Amino acid sequence: MVDLKTQYLKFKPEIDREILEVLDTTAFINGPKVKAFQASLENYLGNCHVVPCANGTDALQIALMALGLQPGDEVIVPAFTYVATAEVIALLQLRPVMVDVDPDTFNVTADIIEKAITPRTKAIVPVHLFGQSCDMEPIMAVAKKYNLWVVEDNAQAIGATYTFSDGSQVKTGAIGHIGCTSFYPSKNLGCYGDGGAITTPHKNWAETCSMIANHGQTKRYYHDLVGVNSRLDSVQAAVLNVKLPHLDEFAAARQKAADFYDRAFANIPALQTPARQHNSTHVFHQYTLIVKDNRRDALQAYLQEKGIPSMIYYPVPLYEQEAYKNSMANTIEKLPATDYLCRSVMSLPMHTELTDEMLTYICDAVKAFFAQ
Ligand SMILES: *Cc1c(COP(=O)(O)O)cnc(C)c1O
Repeated sequence: MVDLKTQYLKFKPEIDREILEVLDTTAFINGPKVKAFQASLENYLGNCHVVPCANGTDALQIALMALGLQPGDEVIVPAFTYVATAEVIALLQLRPVMVDVDPDTFNVTADIIEKAITPRTKAIVPVHLFGQSCDMEPIMAVAKKYNLWVVEDNAQAIGATYTFSDGSQVKTGAIGHIGCTSFYPSKNLGCYGDGGAITTPHKNWAETCSMIANHGQTKRYYHDLVGVNSRLDSVQAAVLNVKLPHLDEFAAARQKAADFYDRAFANIPALQTPARQHNSTHVFHQYTLIVKDNRRDALQAYLQEKGIPSMIYYPVPLYEQEAYKNSMANTIEKLPATDYLCRSVMSLPMHTELTDEMLTYICDAVKAFFAQ
């Protein structure tokens, strides 16, 4: 599904040198590498403050802590996402209100969100699933209308660009009030351990999040807020400093592989290739197909026989997970699109090192399955 080794070998001299420099200087925590990465990411995202932290889940937790919500306050999240999004909401004694997604883009929409708003709703966490931005302009408009905070879960879409109707372009993570991203090794910008960041166009939110990430202190041993301990370490920052300048190339390699898949599957009626939104670039964290007619599991078994990995992101809607079964504030009905997607989606290998030969092998196997 991913090939971290081949990519590492391409950058090995630089990465090894950067890591050795950290060992040499023993500046393991908050060293110059972390500050350099913070500045580079701010520059990359444009008009955005960055607070590095320990992982993407922490980034979400810190962002939600910064909002100062009260127990029982409702936070709207898609039911079709990775568990971390809802987990931090529940952990903070807030109420995750799970909503459906658009079955073509896999993302929440402003219309779906607006229907779930109640007087207790305080925030929305749109997830830019699989690498494409949610349609953020109408989501920000709904947030403004109802006075809600927007925390973008940008763990899968770092580097994607959203275009507003006036033509202005903003990177995901710099659109809402606060954005959260992950540098988990298999993410589009992956380090060699855990890492994450909070991103925000607003200085005040950056300051609050930075305090919370560091035990709520402004000055050493003076704690104004209840915080956590969440740091990006210098070794991870050293890796990220080498990789960030190549993030757009990584996205281009993924898009090229996605185009290859799209072309190969265009004439297979039982497959729906990933919809591409007109106002967002797609950085293809995952290449996710919809396999119609309940043939998903058979296709997956067939590919496995041919030595081709595939994954189901995600097999179970959040509201059917044991831990979250009773969290739906507004409905106990199944959410139809989420339910359908959990039964029908399948992700194919997607990374920066896919060759035409590998892609041909995968696509031929998929075609052979549908030709039988
Ligand atoms: C990976 C991921 C996270 C969590 O990031 P970690 O660094 O693994 O904690 C959160 N949300 C989504 C959508 C993710 O894909």
